[in-house]
Amino acid sequence: MSAIEPAPQKRPLKGLTLEQMRDLMRDLGEKPFRGEQLFRWIYREDAASFEEMTNVSKSFRRDLESEFELPRAEVVKQQESVDGTKKILLQFPDGARVESVLIPEPKRLTICISTQVGCSLTCTFCRTGTMKLERNLAAWEIVEEVQAMQRTYPDRPITNVVFMGMGEPMMNYDNTLQATRILTEDLGQNFSTRRVTVSTSGIIPEMTRFGQQSECSLAVSLHATDEATRSRLMPINKKYSLAELLRTCGKYPLPNRKRITFQYILIDGVNDSLADAKRLRGLVGSLKSQVNLIQFNPYAESDFRPTPEERIREFQKVLLDGKIPTILRKHRGRDILAACGQLKDIESHTGV
Ligand code: SF4
Repeated sequence: MSAIEPAPQKRPLKGLTLEQMRDLMRDLGEKPFRGEQLFRWIYREDAASFEEMTNVSKSFRRDLESEFELPRAEVVKQQESVDGTKKILLQFPDGARVESVLIPEPKRLTICISTQVGCSLTCTFCRTGTMKLERNLAAWEIVEEVQAMQRTYPDRPITNVVFMGMGEPMMNYDNTLQATRILTEDLGQNFSTRRVTVSTSGIIPEMTRFGQQSECSLAVSLHATDEATRSRLMPINKKYSLAELLRTCGKYPLPNRKRITFQYILIDGVNDSLADAKRLRGLVGSLKSQVNLIQFNPYAESDFRPTPEERIREFQKVLLDGKIPTILRKHRGRDILAACGQLKDIESHTGV
């Protein structure tokens, strides 16, 4: 009795940098410029099939077709907030799901993307912190979040990408770095490195590597001004302390005019006193930095409450008086659970 051979699995031709695409073409006996053509078709033109790649010979397209695939995520749900924020739930071919959020502003259109399905870091203000880590996203899947969003809402080009969704990007370092390289490649989507921001809760070794290997912007989640409070909010602080994190930020290589963004969620009675504001001013005052204040976004399972607006303004004033650029990030998409820290599981999550 002859067993039926399973069909050979095709490899995704997505998730390669331009250089890797050129190398692959060399390995296939083709000229490296073929790699440039394919990269352009995949990322600039968002080709759904090899058939569309009309400047590539038919026979080579057939060869590619037999060995490779161009996978996409399926958009299984779309939601729109009263403030214009959009959220899509994506499903990858293996069934893994993440959400991405699109935030329109007059001068820019920002997408917030995920790097992991779930998260292992258990920050206590974050709904994803209550999920287990399912898996890392591959580089092509991270980039696909941007492509799928643009496909779903084609009217305006996405201008900014922030890696602040589900998961800790530095815990999926290689794929995160790879995705930033693909996104900023001229022949592809061509995002400026200044408009691509990777956020971290302070995974010091990878953050240091990122500073050496990438020119993309960095955002660091502080959320507290003393070790005990930060450890309570972000257990990772027990491994990489606030003091060590700030020392690392002080040495972080910043290309021209760039600065580190510090994220600070304001939680009523936890980290939002004027004493906290003064300590924060002292901690980041000597660094080339900007502080983004974010009012805690409540969700049913959390006992934390948002800091009242008036206290937020007082907190902000202390920082501004210390000449620290400080913006109050508006909470967007709360009504569709798309704001920072509100998403989870099927609804997924946006971390900060
Ligand atoms: Fe993970 Fe970010 Fe949520 Fe912390 S805030 S649990 S790092 S997703």
